[in-house]
Amino acid sequence: MRKYVIMGVQGSGKGTQSQLLAADLDIVHISVGDIFRWNVQNHTKMGAYVRRTMAAGELVGDDLVESVVRDRLTQHDWNFGFIIDGFPRDPRQAEFFLESYDIDGVIELDLPDSEVRRRVLNRRLCADCGMDYNLIANSPKVPGQCDMCGGELITREDDTEEALAVRLRDYHNQTNPVLAIFRRKEYVVSVDARPGPEVVQAEIRKRLGLPPAQPAPLGSPPPAQNSPLPAPSTPAPGRKEPASA
Ligand code: AMP
Repeated sequence: MRKYVIMGVQGSGKGTQSQLLAADLDIVHISVGDIFRWNVQNHTKMGAYVRRTMAAGELVGDDLVESVVRDRLTQHDWNFGFIIDGFPRDPRQAEFFLESYDIDGVIELDLPDSEVRRRVLNRRLCADCGMDYNLIANSPKVPGQCDMCGGELITREDDTEEALAVRLRDYHNQTNPVLAIFRRKEYVVSVDARPGPEVVQAEIRKRLGLPPAQPAPLGSPPPAQNSPLPAPSTPAPGRKEPASA
């Protein structure tokens, strides 16, 4: 059983790195941001409540976040463990989490703010299948159209200059104390998130004492995005989860 937390500012590659690790270790990737986005896209009561908060780049209230995480983890579909992304984001959430779960490692993806802006403002998402694109490093073959399903590529509602400024401020103010809490327990590995995804993944694995990832056989499909994320009270989505930051 392996339980990891992955932290990093928007655009640092938390979603990509979580999915790579989850697919290889057969653990479940849980993204709190994806759970909220699913609720917004599916017009649930919770979606209506969090939509404006998310669009402004602000944080959703701790009570709601904690109940979403608690509900998600009590689904117990994580036989081999989980990697949780986007949580905890403030000291209260960290204390709540550590009261309930032992953590094997916290991965901090380190990215300078200037690079965050460049990545986030060039990020696009397929409105149909959730595939993530970056117009700098990973642009679609046909502009505005998903390579996988042909769906329309859209900008996340919170990937704007204004919302990003709020998120960066919150991240530095609130998330750094969380890292300090984890560091006191010696859980944290900090990894430079500037290189390409494979290099970052290899470094994460090395720092966590995991064996190098097995290379996928030629022609094999990309790793599955394996987390059915909606809280138990919501119906299962009929689409792949969007990748988070
Ligand atoms: P993310 O995809 O992790 O960047 O999350 C997108 C948005 O969801 C954030 O800007 C917040 O509005 C909300 N959110 C996600 N995780 C949390 C959390 N742990 N605490 C508060 N709000 C969160």
